[in-house]
Amino acid sequence: MSLKPLLPGALSDRGQQMTLGVMGGGQLGRMFVQAAQAMGYFTAVLDPDPASPAGLVAHWHIDTAYDDEQGLAQLMQRCDAITTEFENVPAPALITLGAHRPVAPSANCVAVAQDRIQEKAHFVQCGPVSGVYPAPYAAIETPELLAAVPADLLPGIVKTARLGYDGKGQVRVKNREELAAAWDKLGRVPCVLEKLMPLQSECSVIVARGADGQVVAFPVQKNTHHDGILAITEVYDGAVPADLAARAQASTVAIANHLNYVGVLCVEYFVVDNGKGGSDLIVNEMAPRPHNSGHYTQNACDLSQFEAQVRALAGLPLPPPRQHSPAIMVNLLGDLWFDANGVRAQASEQPLSPPWAQVLALPGTNLHLYGKLSARPGRKMGHLNITGASVAQVRETATKVLALLGLPALG
Ligand code: ADP
Ligand code: MG
Repeated sequence: MSLKPLLPGALSDRGQQMTLGVMGGGQLGRMFVQAAQAMGYFTAVLDPDPASPAGLVAHWHIDTAYDDEQGLAQLMQRCDAITTEFENVPAPALITLGAHRPVAPSANCVAVAQDRIQEKAHFVQCGPVSGVYPAPYAAIETPELLAAVPADLLPGIVKTARLGYDGKGQVRVKNREELAAAWDKLGRVPCVLEKLMPLQSECSVIVARGADGQVVAFPVQKNTHHDGILAITEVYDGAVPADLAARAQASTVAIANHLNYVGVLCVEYFVVDNGKGGSDLIVNEMAPRPHNSGHYTQNACDLSQFEAQVRALAGLPLPPPRQHSPAIMVNLLGDLWFDANGVRAQASEQPLSPPWAQVLALPGTNLHLYGKLSARPGRKMGHLNITGASVAQVRETATKVLALLGLPALG
């Protein structure tokens, strides 16, 4: 990566308006594009879906496959630097792009995050620096490795090494028979078996790191999942015990430094019972991009995770972000567009949408919808960032919002 900043609104070396590109056109790409545009950059998106959320708002949308040579060539022609919004972008495509343009995060960093076996090995390497380790685990790639799995990893969770998300590609197992059946069910692809940990809570940390090695950490997010999908993120003093929060931030910085990472990185952690009446921290997984749990930064911090992604990519300064309001983020899944009988509300004669007018009447409610043209149960349609003057006020507003939307109350 060149250290010369790509200044917004300037003419680039290509003689064109300075343009930032993104591989992937989902909501994360859309919010990256919006942040880049707010700063004055032109933007380009590569995503095969003609109606992708990011493609709809970017200056240019290249709707080819991610590994299409012509598509990649067009993206390079349009852009002065390129990032990614999802970890499953083919690493060879990033290598091709990286040969001609600054690409952040690098193909190597994305490749580590794509594969749970490599990812966990990296976390183990960072352990002596960070003091934080993954849950005990074993890689399962062959019948021999399956047979050699230590008994103390059971009960556990089998996870496919690649392509898992939102709890998909995972099976909980109690004994060796269930383990063997689960590996069969998952198609005998490379997997990890992880020991089932006594979770007290879950949290995550976003860091942004520049090509010059400068790294800043955002406040630690407390996450609540429903059915394996992030439902709520709470970020305020006391949401995560201060000592664990400091350790989680230091660990995330160590993980980013050790990879020589450039861009925005999110690392997920488990807070577990340490068996001595206290808590310990376990590192779970990482995402080489902004993360759903970091959306609160858009309205509660003086730097959003998407602007941080823009700055890291463009080689602009990354001052430490400051959270100026307690925050609760509520994920808006497609289920909210269906009625209690599972009937698609939008398709009915009287189109029914979630009660936004009532929600937005509450102070400190910020709606972000991703422009997806159809709702499906479990599909991420948007999120709501709630801010307020105090933790009590934010929790009170969130409680009202959740009731209006018919969602489970705060824990
Ligand atoms: P995904 O890629 O689907 O987010 P994760 O590895 O984060 O996969 O697992 C999804 C969820 O499953 C976690 O957020 C946590 O609630 C639960 N989980 C995963 N691994 C463990 C474990 N070793 N022990 C207990 N719960 C776990
Ligand atoms: Mg996860």
